[in-house]
Amino acid sequence: MKEEIRIFMRVSFFMPLFMIEWHRKGDSDMVHMKWLILTVGISLLAACSDEQTETVNEKETAPVEEQAEETPAETENANEEESGQAEEAEQEEIEKEEVESEAEPEPQYRLNPATWGVEPIADAPAEAVLLTIDDAPDKHAVDMAVTLKELNVPAIFFVNGHFLDSEAEKENLKKIHEMGFLIGNHTQTHPNLTTISEDQQKQEILTVNETVEQVIGEKPKFFRAPHGANTDFSRALVQQEGMMLMNWSYGYDWEKQYMDPAALTDIMVNTEFLHNGSNLLMHDREWTAAALPGIVDGLKAKGYTFVDPHEIELQP
Ligand SMILES: [Zn+2]
Repeated sequence: MKEEIRIFMRVSFFMPLFMIEWHRKGDSDMVHMKWLILTVGISLLAACSDEQTETVNEKETAPVEEQAEETPAETENANEEESGQAEEAEQEEIEKEEVESEAEPEPQYRLNPATWGVEPIADAPAEAVLLTIDDAPDKHAVDMAVTLKELNVPAIFFVNGHFLDSEAEKENLKKIHEMGFLIGNHTQTHPNLTTISEDQQKQEILTVNETVEQVIGEKPKFFRAPHGANTDFSRALVQQEGMMLMNWSYGYDWEKQYMDPAALTDIMVNTEFLHNGSNLLMHDREWTAAALPGIVDGLKAKGYTFVDPHEIELQP
C-alpha cells in the first residue's frame, strides 16, 4: 500500500479519540454526533485494512517458523471485533520480542569430553568455570538457585525424577527453570547404570526427560550419570535422545571432611584442580547451599567468570 494512504489511515485512526474528547467537552449537537459516527466508521475500516497490510508485510519478512506460528493468530484477529485490534497487535509485538529474547544464544564454549571442562570457541573468556548442582531439586536446590540468581551466576541443575513426583516438587523445578537455570537429566532414581539392565537404564533416563518436558516445556540437553558411571548403552541412548554427556572436573561436598561450609568453600576455591574451564560439581546439600556465596566470591576473586550453560555447544 502507498505510504500516503497508510499515513492517512493512521491519522484517521486517531481521529475518533479526538472527536470523543471534543464531544465530552460539551459540544453535543446532532451534526457533531453524525460527524463523529462517520469518522469512527471510516477509521475502523482504515485501521482494519492497515492492520492487514502490516500483517502481509510481516509475513513476507518473517522466518518460516514464525509464519507457521503466526498465521492462525492473525486469521483469528481478522474475524474479531475491530475495536481491540490495535492493542492486540501491540501485545503480539511484545510477545514476539519476548520469544526472540528467549532464543538460544550463539555457542561460546565447547565441552571437552576428555576432561569434562569447557573451552572457549572463539573470543569468549578462557578464565571461566561452569557450576553444576546434582541431586536436585531435593531440599536446598530452590534456595541455591535464588542465591545464584542474586549473584547473577548461571548453573546447570541436574535433576532426579524421584524428586519430581508431587505437584510441590514439580513447582520447585519450574521455579529453578524460570530463574533461568538449565535443567539436566541425572536419572530417575540415581542408580549406578553399570549394575542394571538396558531396559532399566532406558527407563531411568527417558522417564526424567518426559517429566522435565511436561513440567518446563523442554527436554534436558545434558545428561550426567550417577557417580559418572555410564555404559555403552547409556552413551548411545543419550546421543539418540539429542543430549550430551557431562561428567565433571572436581567436587568435594560428599566427602566427610567437607560437609562443612567453611571447609567446602576453601577446597572448592583453592584446590589444585581449579583452572580455566573447570566443571565444578556440587550437590543439593545443606552445607553446599551455605557455602555457595563464599565459593562464588572466592572464584570471582581469583579472576574467574561463569560459563552460561545455554552457551555450550550441543552435539551436531
Ligand atoms: Zn548424583
